[in-house]
Amino acid sequence: MRFLIWLVVLFWTVAMLRRAVSWMLRGFLSSPTRGQNAPANQQQPVTSSRRLVRDPVCGVHIAENRAIPLRVGAEVVHFCSVACRDQYAGNEQKFAANG
Ligand SMILES: [Zn+2]
Repeated sequence: MRFLIWLVVLFWTVAMLRRAVSWMLRGFLSSPTRGQNAPANQQQPVTSSRRLVRDPVCGVHIAENRAIPLRVGAEVVHFCSVACRDQYAGNEQKFAANG
């Protein structure tokens, strides 16, 4: 009789372990596949936002997100530094005065 009880306990523990292992494997396998699908779609906007813009004062090319923007009429001009922006703003007023 004691042997039978031990056998039942052994079967029960093995069943519990199997369930736990399968549950862990399912969680382990499902999480990376979810993560791979999400960033693949988000990679395209990153490359477009890294656009280079040209500073019209000194001619230097800078990344758009690091440049200093200045709205001139309907369009936005980008500069490498505040000094270039101020110089351009000064020239812009001169050009506007000349017509
Ligand atoms: Zn500049």
